[in-house]
Amino acid sequence: MADFRRIGVLTSGGDAPGMNAVIRAVTRTALAKNIEVVGIVGGYSGLIEEKLIPLVSHSVSNIITKGGTFLYSNRCLEFKTEEGIEKAIATCQKYNIDAIVAIGGDGTFRGATELAVRGIPTIGITGTIDNDITASDYTIGFDTAMNTVIDVVDRIRDTCESHARCNVIEVMGRDCGDLTLQAGIATGAIAICIPEVPFDEQLAIDKIKSSLVKGKRGMVVLVSEGVYKIDENGKKIRYGEVLANHIQQETGVETKFARLAHIVRGGSPTLRDRLTATRMGAKAVELLLEGKSNLVVVEKDDVIDSEDIVYALTLDQMYKGRLKDGDLDRFTPEQIAKMEASCKERKDKITALYELSYNVCN
Ligand code: ADP
Repeated sequence: MADFRRIGVLTSGGDAPGMNAVIRAVTRTALAKNIEVVGIVGGYSGLIEEKLIPLVSHSVSNIITKGGTFLYSNRCLEFKTEEGIEKAIATCQKYNIDAIVAIGGDGTFRGATELAVRGIPTIGITGTIDNDITASDYTIGFDTAMNTVIDVVDRIRDTCESHARCNVIEVMGRDCGDLTLQAGIATGAIAICIPEVPFDEQLAIDKIKSSLVKGKRGMVVLVSEGVYKIDENGKKIRYGEVLANHIQQETGVETKFARLAHIVRGGSPTLRDRLTATRMGAKAVELLLEGKSNLVVVEKDDVIDSEDIVYALTLDQMYKGRLKDGDLDRFTPEQIAKMEASCKERKDKITALYELSYNVCN
């Protein structure tokens, strides 16, 4: 068992409901093993600027219910430089921080691996509403975000029904359509557009027209923020607003556009997020005590497990079709085959859900 006196915990990148619950679980699990905990304020910039606060059990009282992150989050460009990383390592040495738990998304894990390879044992935990870490079935914040989306979309649908309108609603999720797709199914969206599945605009418009003939009044269409079109000037523009205009022109139905944006990031975490956060936070401390480093805590088939960070990051690149020359060189043929199988499994899952949505929402 590794011998730690003090570990640091930080939240970085985009915040997600449930991050506080992770901080609480990390703190209390470590304290129960007689390990001191320091909170690093403002992500990696807190490590560079020595913004540290000691965490005792009551420091994390009553934060399990709160959205956001009480340690604050930040996008720290300096940490992407060698100088910034050296400053962060110097802070760890100066304050005897023996290991770090970093909660965030893929950017945060890139940062974590920089610490790990320089001798600071580091474990990542997936905290992002996007559910876009391919190595994990689930990322903390996703369930809360989905519930927020369905709450807001239900309200919009009520008013669409009253006024016989359509509303195109853009939902966060970057390149990942999970949030849009699952919330779209749950709200009965007549059409759903996500980055992973080609969208047939004409088919969607025909579906709206035939529903109108059958007497449908209120309609909602959900579009992921990660779907773009190129305009006449060659500029990338988000597709949601474009689609709203096309629907209005083609169907004659008054069509509004709404961007949910950061509404989806806040709020009190659901049971699913509080529980997963607690399980993952405890797991991160256990992994450190087992002498492990450079891992990300993941959920696979309801088991809280871990995966090598570099493997997880490369798997994401493969899933998104962004592998660069040499990215796979460090992996064995068996690992590459496992990555390909994971990508296929995820793509198949999302395609099956998409097909389901097409048949049940009309
Ligand atoms: P997320 O973790 O939500 O994906 P970001 O991509 O903004 O969010 O990453 C969060 C932070 O992680 C960045 O602001 C930076 O401090 C750190 N980070 C991201 N990429 C790297 C990298 N390649 N090397 C070192 N640190 C990184």
